[in-house]
Amino acid sequence: MGKLFDRLNSDVRFVEGINGCINCGTCTAICPAAEVYDYEPRTIANLVQMRDDNVIEELLKSDTIWYCGECMSCKTRCPRNNAPGLLIQALRGLSIETGLFVESEKGRQQLSLKRMLGNSILETGYCVHFDHAELSMFPELGPVWQWVRDNREKVLAKVGANYNGSGPGAMRKISKENLDELEKIFEVTGGLDWFDKIEDVSAQKAKELGMEKGDATDKKSAYFTHVYRYNNAEKHRRK
Ligand code: SF4
Ligand code: SF4
Repeated sequence: MGKLFDRLNSDVRFVEGINGCINCGTCTAICPAAEVYDYEPRTIANLVQMRDDNVIEELLKSDTIWYCGECMSCKTRCPRNNAPGLLIQALRGLSIETGLFVESEKGRQQLSLKRMLGNSILETGYCVHFDHAELSMFPELGPVWQWVRDNREKVLAKVGANYNGSGPGAMRKISKENLDELEKIFEVTGGLDWFDKIEDVSAQKAKELGMEKGDATDKKSAYFTHVYRYNNAEKHRRK
């Protein structure tokens, strides 16, 4: 696995994210995630400064590093110009690369994000495509939205969308050339490697739990449904 701190320290987001924390708590005071989750950016800044591989490994296996919304409010107020949000990004990346993300509930949800958003970006050019969003997975959208979806050809034309059309406009079809370019960006930046890692390590975890993982696009398998739906709210809630 290599020395975890060294790997973290080779990430520019980590290097730029911490100049030395005075533990003042300003970042926690402004952090929106700290209002709802059992989470403090101050603690993250404190812990990574210990340069201790055991501490870093615990973070990589924890739910804690997945609570942040990456809004970067912490960066705007820190008197030492630290950015706990950037530290979190570096920790998340390392958690995926080491496969330790499957050791936490929120980490395991990376599989849902990869299949629902990641795959969709590569396939359609959109994070969430209208055609992919099913009411069973987004019940908060409600029956009116479902009616719009069922009647999309007619309704979307009336509101001026260019649904699956060529040229500009909302919900237009993204050209093959642009999709190929997107895939190339994912390839050279390591995004595709992350996708493979998420699928491979999730397969091992699913096996360990005796659940069917399904192929890399499956959104109905037992393991996918489990990671998508399970939420131990009591554990995550701010006490
Ligand atoms: S980036 Fe993360 S840690 Fe920083 S304020 Fe936003 S939610 Fe909190
Ligand atoms: S605001 Fe900056 S210095 Fe203060 S606790 Fe947060 S990271 Fe540390």
